[in-house]
Amino acid sequence: MAAYEYETHEYDVVVVGAGGAGLRATLGMAEQGLRTACITKVFPTRSHTVAAQGGIAASLGNMGPDHWQWHMYDTVKGSDWLGDTDAMEYLAREAPKAVYELEHYGVPFSRTEAGKIYQRPFGGHTTEFGEGPPVQRTCAAADRTGHAILHTLYGQSLKQKAEFFIEYFAIDLIMSEDGQCQGVVAWKLDDGSIHVFASKMVVLATGGYGRAYFSATSAHTCTGDGGGMVARAGLPLQDMEFVQFHPTGIYGAGCLITEGARGEGGYLTNSEGERFMERYAPTYKDLASRDVVSRCMTMEIREGRGVGAGKDHIHLNLSHLPPETLAERLPGISESAKIFAGVDVTKEPIPVLPTVHYNMGGIPTNYWGEVLNPTADNPDNIAPGLMAVGEAGCASVHGANRLGSNSLIDLVVFGRAAAIRAKDVVDPTTAVPTPNQASIDAALSRFDGLRYAEGQTPTAELRLEMQKTMQADAAVFRTEKTLADGVRNMTAIAGKMGDIKVTDRSLIWNSDLMETLELTNLMPNALATVVSAEARKESRGAHAHEDYPDRDDANWRKHTLSWVEAENVRLAYRPVHLEPLSTAEDGGIDVAKIAPKARVY
Ligand SMILES: Cc1cc2nc3c(=O)[nH]c(=O)nc-3n(C[C@H](O)[C@H](O)[C@H](O)COP(=O)(O)OP(=O)(O)OC[C@H]3O[C@@H](n4cnc5c(N)ncnc54)[C@H](O)[C@@H]3O)c2cc1C
Repeated sequence: MAAYEYETHEYDVVVVGAGGAGLRATLGMAEQGLRTACITKVFPTRSHTVAAQGGIAASLGNMGPDHWQWHMYDTVKGSDWLGDTDAMEYLAREAPKAVYELEHYGVPFSRTEAGKIYQRPFGGHTTEFGEGPPVQRTCAAADRTGHAILHTLYGQSLKQKAEFFIEYFAIDLIMSEDGQCQGVVAWKLDDGSIHVFASKMVVLATGGYGRAYFSATSAHTCTGDGGGMVARAGLPLQDMEFVQFHPTGIYGAGCLITEGARGEGGYLTNSEGERFMERYAPTYKDLASRDVVSRCMTMEIREGRGVGAGKDHIHLNLSHLPPETLAERLPGISESAKIFAGVDVTKEPIPVLPTVHYNMGGIPTNYWGEVLNPTADNPDNIAPGLMAVGEAGCASVHGANRLGSNSLIDLVVFGRAAAIRAKDVVDPTTAVPTPNQASIDAALSRFDGLRYAEGQTPTAELRLEMQKTMQADAAVFRTEKTLADGVRNMTAIAGKMGDIKVTDRSLIWNSDLMETLELTNLMPNALATVVSAEARKESRGAHAHEDYPDRDDANWRKHTLSWVEAENVRLAYRPVHLEPLSTAEDGGIDVAKIAPKARVY
């Protein structure tokens, strides 16, 4: 192996990722005087959060009555009763505080006539514990909400003197012999130098792994690097079978048309011009939750009522909306529709198709963001020195299906929670422990092995094989057969990692090597997804299994854990947290209200 010199940096906390979750955690840690470094492979404001359009959910009640308990109920139901009750309570209760904090940090929210934060309706968000009309709960800065949040949080983090290491690629976690996380090894992309970040706490905020699929709304950087690092550290991933398909990706291009488009009054039609959602979800229609709408669209297409020459997509209609609404509330998507579908939304419908959008599964954590390393006698055992927040983590507030606008709020609520927790578990007065040399050497040896990989299969070729397989075998509808095919095919594809071919040996701006490292992260995420899905013999949320069409709470109301090593996946299960944080006497929710029932919209 080539010899690698490296520079060592010491911090109280190292945050990997500068999306909404990473920046909110960085800001919170720095505000408390913890010496905090934030490492990111792209410039902070280019993280995928920048693309979030629709908005961020919080029961502010600016546009009509709302209550955090209604938000919690909707989240429980949206999760198809797989979310952890304590975490979902924490999310809904803390959401208003977290949004007002954003407002005070300077996020330029759209406003009502009275000057309050503007809120729009979003799928699955209702009043009166699902008995009342849709609620306007989603706070928005036009259709560029993520953009506004990211820029504000970056500015605030700089103000708090957090240190940024931009265009540094985290390769692996540094783990002690007894399982304590002690930092990360990173590669500086522009000059090829190697860096060891030693710390008392590592926070993974690396985002989702949408790019394991062929068609995804997520950025090309969404490669599940945190999940890959965790899997290599011998820790499990959780609930990976639950992958959200957004109903309205632009047909062909995959770019997102926000659910806010339906929130503002847009609706879907089939080849007969029928508003088919009225048939499937009579109450909430086009604003039923995402898994439901995506399945209905797929059913219409399968039954021959798709639009276009191939009858293989659906129309989203906005042309009946006042041009002022389109210009003011949805300017970005009007532009996207023009560029990517050649459509003028004031005159024509947009061609859309369900597209991979969000990963409910990820690195298991408690509601403080602390990573779990479940053991046989303690399903909530904590992995010391490691936290995960945002889409990389699984708290689990989204369970089997996430509601729209519940991710941005998850980023800031749990980014903030991680910082609150760090105050108790990270002592700024002690020295940073010397990181385990064997673990650093192992990371560098893996890096070197890939740099000089001399197999037969180019990275781009193997990645495409993986993406096509996931798209075909682990999609909106799943059967025993597609899932068994998926497991077999993905095992074979993961097995080819040893035959990878990297042509560029340099260390400076080597995109070939970086994409190969990313592929080594996508692969365990993809494999865990299909193996977990094959094992789950029921339908719940985003996991729609045609051979087991019903939800089976008696046997399957439990979280899937998956340990991935090379092409092998080992599964186990951990119980769902059923207890809320506070009792009804303490102002908490009446648990009878959130008892499982059929999920109809
Ligand atoms: C098009 C689109 C629109 C969306 N709209 C909404 C919406 O309106 N409302 C809503 O609630 N949700 C929305 N979502 C979902 C939500 O935006 C995402 O779940 C969320 O932004 C993820 O944020 P994050 O901070 O976890 O990760 P990201 O924003 O993806 O950031 C990941 C960070 O990790 C860094 N990173 C990753 N790997 C490494 C590595 N190896 N080394 C160093 N750094 C690394 C990256 O540089 C980046 O800074 C949308 C998603 C998409 C794709």
